[in-house]
Amino acid sequence: MARIVMKFGGTSMAGIERIRRVAQIVKQQADGGNEVAVVVSAMAGDTDRLVNFCREASSLYDAAEYDVVVASGEQVTSGLLAIALQSLGARARSWLGWQMPIRTIEAHSKARIETIDGEALTAAMQSGEIAIIPGFQGISKAGRITTLGRGGSDTSAVGIAAAVKADRCDIYTDVDGVYTTDPRIVTKARKLKTVTFEEMLELASVGAKVLQTRSVGLAMKEGVRIQVLSSFTEEGAPCADELPGTMIISEDEMETDDMESQLITGIAHDKNESKITLTRVPDKPGAVANIFEPLAEAAINVDMIIQNVGREKGETDVTFTAPTSDLDRTMQVLADAQPDIGYNRLISDSNVAKISVVGVGMKSHAGIASTMFKALAERGVNIQAITTSEIKVSVLIEEDYTELALRVLHTAYGLDAEDAA
Ligand code: ADP
Ligand code: ASP
Ligand code: MG
Repeated sequence: MARIVMKFGGTSMAGIERIRRVAQIVKQQADGGNEVAVVVSAMAGDTDRLVNFCREASSLYDAAEYDVVVASGEQVTSGLLAIALQSLGARARSWLGWQMPIRTIEAHSKARIETIDGEALTAAMQSGEIAIIPGFQGISKAGRITTLGRGGSDTSAVGIAAAVKADRCDIYTDVDGVYTTDPRIVTKARKLKTVTFEEMLELASVGAKVLQTRSVGLAMKEGVRIQVLSSFTEEGAPCADELPGTMIISEDEMETDDMESQLITGIAHDKNESKITLTRVPDKPGAVANIFEPLAEAAINVDMIIQNVGREKGETDVTFTAPTSDLDRTMQVLADAQPDIGYNRLISDSNVAKISVVGVGMKSHAGIASTMFKALAERGVNIQAITTSEIKVSVLIEEDYTELALRVLHTAYGLDAEDAA
């Protein structure tokens, strides 16, 4: 017997037929003698629809009320799954964020989990009841509904797995594991049996949306075992214990052979960043601080930064990237700070994409970045910015080249599946 948290994403919950299939998968785990809690997402597309309603109501909407609106999608699916399970003869009930409770910080629309009281939930699970929890939502100290940022149900699932000391957290989605790159873009992508927490954290943070970045960080901190697998299986398919998904493991659990032989684990892309350039910034101490301080105060996350070689007359150009969703605010903040910074022109470009290669093998091998630059150059893809970390190299390119770059790099690093066309 095991204690298992199962999480089902938006496409898995999209409509009553899909929810019935999810109910079967859940019941199969419970019938195997396991204690089960289930975290659900809203039906695919519903959260986007709710976000758009808020934007239509007012471009400057109140984030606390936004949370009230967008958290509702998960409330619907949690109730529906409980009903579907009951109709299969199982005991099940929903537990809303405030009922457990899942306590978060105040930051509406991007709250972080502080504590989860798993006691009542554990008791219910031990009594043989299946607990259904709407993902994405929590409650602030002020007693108001919060949400955990887009894709946050993954983080809810990991948080609950930690709170009830689950043996496993199974993340069911619309692909059957973590692949070397997005399998919907590169048909030759290969499914990975294992990925280390560290690699998954990097992959998620640079755009592999199969897991929300924070869920991986939390799992790493709390030692939660995550498995990624598909809910799109036929009735009668084996349950998760026998399905070959992808396990997220620690580096210690990884076989040394794997680490040495595999230079690159995966390639990710992110089209949600924009490039901003300030021309003719004074080339003197404090100039860069004058740019990035007001952005930090406005809670805008800056990613890649390049400062060009100084021009004549002690001036330089500074380029950086920020999320496209924050582009308008970024431009406003920099326009307001123009007298302090003293730049000449402010230019933005949202037609860019960040492509990143990730792998722990990089720690012990040279030449990973140069392979990337050469492969892209051979296909005429211009690199606009570069950043690196111990296990990652990222480049910024024109957005139209995203698919081409992913395919070319996938081949260049020898990742293509052998049996793929
Ligand atoms: P869910 O609604 O279940 O949370 P998401 O849409 O958030 O699902 O995440 C699953 C999607 O992640 C897949 O459909 C796939 O297109 C995308 N994806 C991006 N990178 C990868 C990768 N390396 N491996 C698997 N899927 C990936
Ligand atoms: N429904 C939320 C979203 O679409 C949370 C989630 O699905 O993880 O972002
Ligand atoms: Mg998701």
